[in-house]
Amino acid sequence: MGLREANIAQLDGGTFDVLIIGGGINGAVSAAALASRGARVAVIDRGDFADFTSMQSSNLVWGGFKYLENYEIKLVRDLCMSRNHLIKAYPANLKEIRFMAALDENSPFKPWFAGLGAAGYWLIGNGFTKAPRVLTPEKIAENEPIVRTDNLLGGIEYSDAYIVDNDSRFVFGFIRSALNSGATCANYVSFDSATREGDRWQVQLRDTDTGAEFSASAKVIINAAGPFVDPINDAHGIRTKHKIVFSKGIHLIVPRLSEHERVLAFFDDTQRLFYVIPMGTRSVIGTTDDRVGDPHTDVTNEDRDFLLDQINERLDLQTPLSPRDIIATRSGVRPLVVEADNTTSDDTDWTSLSRKHAMEVDAGQSWITVFGGKLTDCVNIGNEVSTLVKKLGVPLTKDKKSWYGEPPKATREEYFRQARLMGLDRLTTRASFETLSTRLWRRYGLRAFAMLEALRDDPSMADDIIEDADYVRVELFYAAKTEMITKLDDFLRRRSKIALVLDYDEIRGADGIHEACELLFGDDAQRRYDEYFTEERRAQLQEYRKASAAYR
Ligand SMILES: Cc1cc2nc3c(=O)[nH]c(=O)nc-3n(C[C@H](O)[C@H](O)[C@H](O)COP(=O)(O)OP(=O)(O)OC[C@H]3O[C@@H](n4cnc5c(N)ncnc54)[C@H](O)[C@@H]3O)c2cc1C
Repeated sequence: MGLREANIAQLDGGTFDVLIIGGGINGAVSAAALASRGARVAVIDRGDFADFTSMQSSNLVWGGFKYLENYEIKLVRDLCMSRNHLIKAYPANLKEIRFMAALDENSPFKPWFAGLGAAGYWLIGNGFTKAPRVLTPEKIAENEPIVRTDNLLGGIEYSDAYIVDNDSRFVFGFIRSALNSGATCANYVSFDSATREGDRWQVQLRDTDTGAEFSASAKVIINAAGPFVDPINDAHGIRTKHKIVFSKGIHLIVPRLSEHERVLAFFDDTQRLFYVIPMGTRSVIGTTDDRVGDPHTDVTNEDRDFLLDQINERLDLQTPLSPRDIIATRSGVRPLVVEADNTTSDDTDWTSLSRKHAMEVDAGQSWITVFGGKLTDCVNIGNEVSTLVKKLGVPLTKDKKSWYGEPPKATREEYFRQARLMGLDRLTTRASFETLSTRLWRRYGLRAFAMLEALRDDPSMADDIIEDADYVRVELFYAAKTEMITKLDDFLRRRSKIALVLDYDEIRGADGIHEACELLFGDDAQRRYDEYFTEERRAQLQEYRKASAAYR
């Protein structure tokens, strides 16, 4: 029986202290925090873990410099503290990164004023990162020759952090942590309905992959369904003081634009900040911030051309970017929290809505709702949920803070000692300029020790499976057993970022793709392959190729 099947067997007829709806960042941290403190926890997602909002972020762990524009000092302070805490807890997975913001006549702030703001931001963050500085156009040209400086007044440089792999893999780390503490976790399981019987919830669940229906019982329900919290609350008679509205944001992934590991920031024509963020051999351009009513979104031609126009105007590229350069796209909605009686109109300044989270408890019904939030806020969410669950009468042991973060320094040093003796610190991959030992440690932590053992027994385990994808054979063996990969997209887009750095044709044409499917899905390999490589998916790529002729 595979890992998912074993967890579904535990869910079926299971009795839990807490059942969590949604395996995005909020559900995943809630599960990890509660399970580490002895609660019997189940967390389910009707898709894959993190397959909705939590795989569409900018991959940044930040204090929210731009929220200072709306004087949200407390939110910025809280986020800066979370950022600092996460940088310390995840030295291999989260890295401090410099942001270089270029300012021209149309930018809302002059460089000296932005510099003051950056100094304030740095102080609000306890001066934890490298200090900010004001830059002249000449300095910007020297640091980043691709930035057009003829119209610049200057710029600023300051620090925040980014997730080295990707957001959805970061979320899966919390699911793994919850599994390690004995939680029951299953992707592709939908919460269909729940009825209150006595002081417990009887929950109807459905396997969205096979269609099988089953039920479980829980004392407390946590609604962490992100953009979908309101309809689930409404269907169960849960009244709240808050509700969610949606702000759409998109990203375009293109070949790497700047060789430096630095985020470039610009104000677009509507005076909103947007970024060019490094992702291995690629650059991610985004994001936008538009009001929408439907949480299901896509990158429209208008969105795409807007971002391409903005970046082409601000960079001095040998050949301007066109749709043909787009390798992949991301599109999602930020679930923003407003008061339930708030009637935001079209005139509302959408970008000024707060990005803070809110939690509400219906103590009579033992139902908790998590509204909004950010990846950056994740440890706070885990802590707050634990406090509320305890108040609802679920006994929790002392928090040893073992549910997040990487293994201690001594363990890391022992891992790298062994890897060095095996020569793994000399192996670099073409795709990311880092050693295999570094990559394995970052992705798998303690589990990387078992991979060293497998590599000792069989050196072919260190072979790349898909060219330029940064995945070696041993990783697939372990992913198949321990990462609940149910569909090919789970692997290509969420546990790894292969589908973000290689386009459809490159992945389909890769020598190792069939071997990858066999390792991951065994007898089901061909079905999972066919399910992924659809005409619809390919059509998107062709559309970009065609659009290039019309663009400009
Ligand atoms: C464009 C963009 C950029 C962003 N950039 C950043 C950033 O750089 N840094 C940062 O910190 N934050 C960022 N954010 C914000 C952050 O990504 C989100 O706040 C966060 O991912 C929301 O997580 P969530 O768990 O609340 O929701 P989700 O990730 O959407 O998770 C909810 C889950 O519930 C599941 N679900 C719904 N209904 C059911 C059901 N009936 N049964 C079972 N499961 C169900 C869904 O499938 C989904 O997976 C960004 C967001 C966007 C859109």
